[in-house]
Order: sequence, then C-alpha cells, then structure tokens
Amino acid sequence: MNLSDSPTRLHLLALADTPAARQRLAACSAGLTALTTDGAAWQVEVLERTEDAVVAIGDGHADALLFDCDAAEMEDMLRLIRERGILTPILVITADGDPETVEPLLAAGADEYLPTAELTPLLLERTLRLCTRTQALESRLEYLAQHDLLTGLPNARLFERQLDLALHTAERHGRCMALVSLQLDAFQNIARNSGQESAEQLLKQSAQRLKALLRRSDLVARSQGEEFLLLLECSADLTDLALTASRLLESLAAAGSLSEGSSASMGIAVFPRSSQDPRQLLEQARAALHQVRDAGGNDFRVYDESLEVISHRRVLMEHALPGAIARRELDVRYQPRFDLRSRRIAGAEVLLRWNSPDFGAVSPDQFIPVAESTGAISRIGGWVLEQAIRAGRHWMDTGHDLRLAVNVSAGQFRSGDFSDLLGRLLTTHGLPPHLLELELTEGVFVSNVVAHRDLFATLNELGVGLAVDDFGTGYSALAYLRHFPVHALKIDRTFITGLPESEDDCAIVRAIVAMGHALDLRVVAEGVDAPEQIRFLTEIGCDEIQGFLVGKPMTAEELGELLASGSTLDPDERRS
Ligand code: C2E
Ligand code: CA
Ligand code: CA
Repeated sequence: MNLSDSPTRLHLLALADTPAARQRLAACSAGLTALTTDGAAWQVEVLERTEDAVVAIGDGHADALLFDCDAAEMEDMLRLIRERGILTPILVITADGDPETVEPLLAAGADEYLPTAELTPLLLERTLRLCTRTQALESRLEYLAQHDLLTGLPNARLFERQLDLALHTAERHGRCMALVSLQLDAFQNIARNSGQESAEQLLKQSAQRLKALLRRSDLVARSQGEEFLLLLECSADLTDLALTASRLLESLAAAGSLSEGSSASMGIAVFPRSSQDPRQLLEQARAALHQVRDAGGNDFRVYDESLEVISHRRVLMEHALPGAIARRELDVRYQPRFDLRSRRIAGAEVLLRWNSPDFGAVSPDQFIPVAESTGAISRIGGWVLEQAIRAGRHWMDTGHDLRLAVNVSAGQFRSGDFSDLLGRLLTTHGLPPHLLELELTEGVFVSNVVAHRDLFATLNELGVGLAVDDFGTGYSALAYLRHFPVHALKIDRTFITGLPESEDDCAIVRAIVAMGHALDLRVVAEGVDAPEQIRFLTEIGCDEIQGFLVGKPMTAEELGELLASGSTLDPDERRS
C-alpha cells in the first residue's frame, strides 16, 4: 500500500451533552467524514461529558471543536478555552440564529455558529473550512503584527500589551519595575558607513546579549529602529537596578565586533515612583534616554521629575477645549482618498484641527484624548459630523459623490444620543447615508458587544458605512468582525510605511487585503507616501489609498478645486 495516498486527517472534537444533540451529530458525522477540506478527511470524535472535553482540548490535537450544549455552558467553556490561549477554531450549534444567544457566544470566542435546522454535512464542512482557514491567517497575522522578524523579539505593540499586564501584577504585589528605553549609540553610523546588513547584524547580536543577560521574568522587545525596550523588576532603592544597567552596558559594548564599538545608552523610568501610567512611563524613559544621548551616550539615567512639563499643559487644555467651538478655534480638513482602479478621488477623510491662541496648532492625537476624558467629545464630535455632512451635500450638488469618512472615538460612540444626532443631521442636510462612513477602532467593535448591538443595528438601518480604523494594531479578530455590519478596513499607517522594503509589512498588508476581500470588505491603505507603495498596493488589489503623497489634509475649498480639475493619480506613479 502506498502510504502517501492515504489522505491527511482533520480531527473534529465534538461535545454533545444530550441524547438529542448526539443524534443530530451522528446524523451529520457520516456525511462529513465523506467530505474533505483542503485535501484532508474529517474524523469526528464525540464526547458526552464536559470534563472529558476539557481534558481532550487541553491535549491540543483537535483541529476544530464543535459544541452542541446549553448556551450558558458553551459560553463558560469558550471563555475558559480562550483565556488559556487555545486558538483552535470553535463552532457552536445553537437552537436558532437569535442574536441574543449568538452574540455572547461569538464574543466569548466562538468562531462561527450553525442553527440546528441548518446542520447538514455540507454546510458543516464549509463552515469548518472557513473557520480553519481564517484561523490560520489570523494566527499568522497576529504573529507578524506582534514580532520583529529580524530579532524574533516582541515588537513595541506586543510589549505595550505585556507592559500593561506586568504593571497590574506589580501593583498587586507591591513591586517596583524599571522601564528601560535602550539605544545602540553607533547604530546610525554603522548603517551609514558599513551598510544595512552590518547594522542588522549588530541588532541581532545585541538582542541575543540582552536575552542572555535578563531573567526569564523580564521583558525585552525591539521597538522602532535601534530602540530596545526592557521591563525589569527592581528594588525600591534602585541599587540593583544600577548594577543591572551597568552589566547590560558592559555586555553590549563587548558584543561589538565592529571597530566603532557598540556602546549603548539607556533611559529608565521607575514604576510606581515616576508614574503609574504605562504610556507616561514610556515617555519618561525616552526623555531620560535623550538626556543621556545629549551628554554623549554610553551611560544610563533614571528619569527625574524636573523633566516633566507635559501634565501642566494638559490641565490648561482641559479648561480651554470645551469653549473651542464657540471661540471658532476648531476647523476641519479633508484628506482625499483615491480609488486604485479608477485612479480618481473616491472620498475623503475628515480630520479635525484645533488652532488655539494659547497652544498653537494642537494635534488631534493630543487633544482628542483630552476631549474624551472631559466629556467634551460628544459636542465636538457632533460638530465635526455636521461639517462633514454639510460639505458632502455641497459636493454632491456640484456633481461629486464623495464618500466622507469621519472618525468617531469610543466615548462619542457610547454617548447616548449618537445615532439620533446622526439620523437628524443626515435628514436635515439631505445627504444619502452611503456617502458617510464612520471610522471606528477595533476596540470599539470588540468591547461591550451586547450593549453596542442595537447601536450597530441602528447605524446599519440608517445606511451609513462603517470602517475599522488602524486595522492590525489591535485584536485582528476577524472571525468576530464578520458579525458586524462592517464595510471597510483601514490598514494602519505603521504597516504601510515599511512597504515595499520590509518583508514583514508586505506579508501583513497582503494578508489583510486577502482577508478583507474574503469577507467582502473594501480595503483602504493610509499613510501612503511613496510611489513604490502605490505600485505594491495596486498589485495586491488594495481598493483605495490615502496619504501625503497623493493628497495632504486640505480645506474644503482646496478639495473643491482638486475635484473640479478632474485630478487623477499621477501617471508617473502608475508607471513607477
Ligand atoms: P487617523 O484616523 O489614523 O488619521 C490619519 C492621520 O494620519 C491624520 O493625522 C493624517 O493627517 C495622517 N496622515 C495621512 N496621510 C499621511 C502620510 O502619508 N504620512 C503621515 N505620516 N501621516 C499621514 P491627524 O490629522 O493628525 O489625526 C490624528 C488622529 O486624530 C487621527 O488618526 C484620528 O484618530 C484622530 N482624529 C482626527 N480627527 C478626528 C475627529 O474628528 N474625531 C475623532 N474622534 N478623532 C479624530
Ligand atoms: Ca481615521
Ligand atoms: Ca488610522
């Protein structure tokens, strides 16, 4: 017998705790085992008791799981499994498709559901196939999005998540932690004089040294460029920290086989002494690092309060922001988006600006969080919506159907009257709802599902578009997003920057476009600032682009002129 002829097997582990459920499954299993998924044949194992299932799942040899039990029981199981970090695709059988039942199950970690009435071998196989494929893509995407492939270390994104968790634990146990921002002093010089390859070699060597010197419980990650981030436990009087820091510096210096040497500089912020907030700790560590570098490098410094200037400014902002609309200090800009097939302007993102007499031009990245924490966001967000809807109607009247994308932050979305206001504005100004798209970050979709369900349903009825902003930086929970009325994905700018040089970024962007299309979503790339990026994105079938290269955020008048001139993507960019 030729062994290679026997098909590979896929193991479906099913939990069915009632006779009726087992009968349903038995009826379906025979048909399923006759089908194949990507060349592999299914093999079904049915368990009757939850305890047995928990043990079998823990063994980890199932390719997919299927639960046909009481909904509350399934929800508990799902939570338990996902909390343990088990990623196996899970399909749940429900009495019907009632969202009250289904959504909590999806939120708890089920990949898909099948109502009992639809349980046929063919549909079961197709659903399993979709779940296993999406899951494989998701795991790959998740790894790519969280690691630096050069050194194999976690990247800044993953580090920030681990940091949150580690600080929580430290707080509970009353421990001190040191957050370190570390840079290799000669990195830029080496990259310039000896080339990228030597520079990368140095990064890899340094990463190995760091890993070798640190304890297993310490965290280490590679952030952007030559920056490494570390999180170390330390004593309150910092004596051990000073020792560790010196040891690290010595070891790195010895790592350099290059003539320029490889001394490093470290900026350190201590939790909870300098701050309890992870973002602020990062800022503080970097501020301290800059001091070291300004003083010549090859040293470390612990952050000290005198560097602090930010929080005072924030307090002043909190007072000034609520009156900004009345004082006419707010303004919106429109950044055009081009369709990669027609090469024409398909829409624009609406971006808020604050010109304050006291602070100058403040970036929305700085004042939106302030508006959120003071509650001013509802009124400000409402004002932006109105500007956008008015402008959209104006362009429509001049013969341009532009899809306008408005950013909606979590706080604004949650404020009680959001959908009422939106409905009223659309009616008042007579804007067809499909010309408006709301950009929400992944977190808004993934948190508080049941509470948001009605709101999403209302928005869907209104007919406005929904886009996931900054896609790839958060959860990448695609199987889950499928159950919301989402229309578009916006790939985060940080992935676009590396195109087409960075293999990681190319792989991520390709995967996002493929998945987006598999789910029937429009995919938009933002932050496009080089012709090669346009070429790459066109090649892989991305739908729309936005970025400084093809159009900066501009006034309504400027965009009007651009539209009137019939602007298309520059033919040079098409050729390059
Ligand atoms: P976002 O939603 O990711 O918006 C895109 C940001 O990327 C904008 O920054 C835009 O100017 C910038 N950008 C566009 N193309 C390029 C490029 O080629 N290179 C680079 N480096 N940047 C590019 P902006 O206007 O400063 O807005 C920052 C963030 O503030 C936005 O990020 C959004 O989260 C928030 N924001 C802006 N307006 C509003 C608003 O009306 N409401 C809410 N809730 N948030 C807003
Ligand atoms: Ca946006
Ligand atoms: Ca974005």
